[in-house]
Amino acid sequence: MIICKKPGTLRDLLEKKKIEEQQIGFVPTMGALHAGHISLVNEATKQNNIVVCSIFVNPTQFNDPEDFKKYPVTLEKDILMFEEAGCDILFIPSVQDIYPNGITKLQHYELGFLERVLEGKFRPGHFQGVCQVMHRLLEIVLPNNLYLGQKDYQQCMVIKKIIELIGLNDKIKVNVCPTLREKDGLAMSSRNSRLLPADRIKAATVSSALRNIKENIRTGDTKQIKDEATKMLFQSGFRIDYLEIADADTLVLVENWDGKQKIVALAAAFLNEVRLIDNMVINT
Ligand code: AMP
Repeated sequence: MIICKKPGTLRDLLEKKKIEEQQIGFVPTMGALHAGHISLVNEATKQNNIVVCSIFVNPTQFNDPEDFKKYPVTLEKDILMFEEAGCDILFIPSVQDIYPNGITKLQHYELGFLERVLEGKFRPGHFQGVCQVMHRLLEIVLPNNLYLGQKDYQQCMVIKKIIELIGLNDKIKVNVCPTLREKDGLAMSSRNSRLLPADRIKAATVSSALRNIKENIRTGDTKQIKDEATKMLFQSGFRIDYLEIADADTLVLVENWDGKQKIVALAAAFLNEVRLIDNMVINT
């Protein structure tokens, strides 16, 4: 595995591969790897000649500075895990490389409703930061295939939108991969390592609450089934940002379900200062 720190070096390396018409798959991450990240790399190695992964803890997407400061960093372990999974080139840029003009006065992206609902509403500025880093990374790597996790459902939608906004939708195929979970159902996440031991046990309630919706939802008013799930989270000591049922393609909230509309249940909630998110698609 080649480790590359400079955008120019990576571009030169990939230029050669592109001339040879090699398929390039890209897996962007913020490091602190777990099996969920590796499942994306596995998918990428199956479908491409060259797999590029990146580690960059993007300062502009943290609406909470404390969350940024406490974001876990496990670089040596990550390098070994990527290498073992079959990553060919690992890109580890600096903040200066990604933001050569600094992190203020950055480009604004028109995300519309996506930025006003759920994660967009509760984490102001977060998706602008995601767009800034993805715009830069995609311009540097220009992959044929991009691999993202369904765990960050709304982020997948935002990234598809930015790819369209920057005119790369004919060049880059987005592959959304399933959420990997721990045995008790907790969605794997780098932030899970920050949970206190007692909270780690309670944390699986997010997925049980969503599963309860998936298994028991009926047509009509969605309030009662959401209330049940909310109660489960409260009883486990969560502070809830949101627990909603939304249209799977637009994220418009669904208060009355006709049984046919494609929907997804999504939640974000805190245990002490650790914020967990998860989602489950109800029907396909
Ligand atoms: P992050 O390092 O949190 O920015 O995540 C990097 C990529 O891994 C994103 O596309 C995430 O959606 C994806 N990812 C994170 N957790 C999981 C998981 N449990 N299963 C599958 N993919 C995941």
